[in-house]
Amino acid sequence: MNVPLDSLLDISDNNPPSGLRSVPVLMPVALDQTYDYLVPDGFDVAPGAFVLVPFGPQTRIGIVWDEPRGNAKPVDPAKMKTVTSRIDAPLLPEISMRFAEWVARYTLAPLGMVARMMMSADQAFEPPKHRFGVQIVEGAALPSKMTPARTRVLEIAADGLVRAKSDLANLAACSTAVVDGLAAAGVLVEVAIPERAFPWPNPKHAETEFTPEQTRAVESLRSAVDAGNFSTTLLDGVTGSGKTEVYFEAVARALEADHQALIMLPEIALTSQFLDRFARRFGAPPVEWHSALSPAERGRIWKGVARGDVRCVVGARSALFLPYANLGLVIVDEEHDQGFKQEDRVHYQARDMSVVRGNLGKFPVVLASATPSIESHVNALIGRYRHAVLPGRFSGVAMPDVSLIDLRAQKLETGKWLAQGLAQAVTETLEKGQQSLLFLNRRGYAPLTLCRSCGHRLECPQCTAWLVEHRFKKKLTCHHCGFSLALPEKCPKCAEPGSLVACGPGVERVQEEVAARFPDARVALLSSDLIPGLPEMREIIRGIEAREFDIIIGTQIVAKGHNFPGLALVGVVDGDLGLAHGADPRAAERTFQLLHQVTGRAGRTSFVGRGLVQTYSPDHPVMRAIVAGDRDAFLNYEVKTRQNGLLPPYGRLAAILVSARDKALTEVTARDIARRAPQSETISVLGPVEAPIAIVRGRHRWRLLIKAPREADLQGYLRAWAGTIPKLKSDVRITVDIDPYNFL
Ligand code: ADP
Ligand code: ZN
Repeated sequence: MNVPLDSLLDISDNNPPSGLRSVPVLMPVALDQTYDYLVPDGFDVAPGAFVLVPFGPQTRIGIVWDEPRGNAKPVDPAKMKTVTSRIDAPLLPEISMRFAEWVARYTLAPLGMVARMMMSADQAFEPPKHRFGVQIVEGAALPSKMTPARTRVLEIAADGLVRAKSDLANLAACSTAVVDGLAAAGVLVEVAIPERAFPWPNPKHAETEFTPEQTRAVESLRSAVDAGNFSTTLLDGVTGSGKTEVYFEAVARALEADHQALIMLPEIALTSQFLDRFARRFGAPPVEWHSALSPAERGRIWKGVARGDVRCVVGARSALFLPYANLGLVIVDEEHDQGFKQEDRVHYQARDMSVVRGNLGKFPVVLASATPSIESHVNALIGRYRHAVLPGRFSGVAMPDVSLIDLRAQKLETGKWLAQGLAQAVTETLEKGQQSLLFLNRRGYAPLTLCRSCGHRLECPQCTAWLVEHRFKKKLTCHHCGFSLALPEKCPKCAEPGSLVACGPGVERVQEEVAARFPDARVALLSSDLIPGLPEMREIIRGIEAREFDIIIGTQIVAKGHNFPGLALVGVVDGDLGLAHGADPRAAERTFQLLHQVTGRAGRTSFVGRGLVQTYSPDHPVMRAIVAGDRDAFLNYEVKTRQNGLLPPYGRLAAILVSARDKALTEVTARDIARRAPQSETISVLGPVEAPIAIVRGRHRWRLLIKAPREADLQGYLRAWAGTIPKLKSDVRITVDIDPYNFL
């Protein structure tokens, strides 16, 4: 008789088989609970350890958690599966676990998905790949047969360094066979190439002398770091006032105290200019973290951060989720930037979550901006945040002189997008040998193509959206789903040849007009779809700094974080573009920020710049504030609007998006969900309504908006609501977005 041992033990005793214990394991999947696994004898699986476990039909990586989470029910030990193996990677720090739990609770994302974000460096969990190189063997006898190539190799290797065979062969201008031959002869030996060490920024490398106003801000930030406590400071000052210079001192202080520091920037602002500045101040570059890194680099940095070998990270929003061993400061530069909001999987706002991280880690967080978000502005106003203000530009140069071009009075010529006044200003700037920037936040050539003969508009077959013409690529593209087709020669509806016309401008069309008007000017076009990646973008930015271009045409990627010393004129082609989003409570704020930022690029260091904004609504409060250079007037106006409408930060919002391929099913589901909303005195549910973009990628979309007072338990309300919703039809998808920034 062959009775399995497990079942015998199960009868006698409900505890795990003797010597075996179990641990809760969190899987990086869309589940909100841990699962218990047995741990074989002699396995060291401390909380935070990464382990391989059987999960369904697969073996997957999970994280040993310190406590069971979610609805983890006790599992019959007889049925419990066993941890397969331990992965050789640093432990996930305890504070990262608490942070993951906090983010999951707040965003309503499954804990497993937050964990998955924290693990977004696959190679950190793979066995380290040692690269091998060769090194000279001290005192080894030379081989009997020496050739000139062998001599060259040995001369180079004489310094005793370990080099990859190919590197050594390249240096000696010979083939790797020569290196192999020397290794076979025992003069060179194969050894593992040591892992590259991370740069070590030195807080004392190049200290800055500050103006009295800057000194006050520096002292305030230093004292926040020295306090070793949680605090949030809004570092508020116009572009060029020295915010970067000032927060570098907070970084220096944190490094001196042996803490790690994180500087978060909108991805696009991660320019070489910024990295060079960091290196000048600290004598070493920071470690960058963004989407363009190779998988190997991601793995190396992930481990370096967990071990505390990486001292300072400069990164995009996802850098907040790295496993810091000893984080002691977070700086969020351009804190108002909407790029800090992640819109897929886990919907989080990295600026807000950095404040949470500071609170958990008991360290200061600094939010820097020339145009703070209304949320941060209000928090500073009511004393929840400290406020450090830098009043003027370091260079002493006045802010640019901004005026409006009223397009109702100065009519555009047909097919032209620059009014006479703007074209004239560009001409004058060219004559002075200075640079002009023409800003239009719209990629491509034209946002709409229509048939002159039958009026047909070319729309995306899968989205409620017009196809945008990209003339360089000779394509019509959907900016929502990426669908594209070759530019047709005749109307797809009435088949009339040559009847399609482009309507409205994109940056490519502005470039065409510029080429016609200023044929001798050197023109740079900056648009994300025309630039393959970060390195290429950095190269163009460098060219602009070096004044290799006279006219720069760009989308919002030119608005952020750059310092162009030769830039004298900024022309905004369509100042009203951002104001059109009726349902978006932040439309005015965003337009103000963008216009302020982009006009603020002009004349930063040695002369007063000029800004010209083309608009059909010169009386709008945003336009008035931009012209008057009166940021506070705008902030006051906007704070009142938010207060009256109980909009953030005076109230809280959540969005629910229901989508499905079937139109009726989408609507029925959205209505059913709305009907089940729990009764509440204070929380109201608006909708459901069809989303402004009714179809994306073939999926119909309906929206609900939930409005709550600041102090309401919005998450609790939504969780209770979710509990009443029956199992959805398989194709229906529901996303919940707390603090939404997107209302389309
Ligand atoms: P912001 O971050 O507010 O836009 P920056 O820190 O980039 O401002 O400063 C603008 C320019 O002025 C930069 O070129 C910077 O190096 C210079 N600058 C600011 N403060 C000082 C200072 N105290 N000493 C020397 N240069 C400074
Ligand atoms: Zn589409």
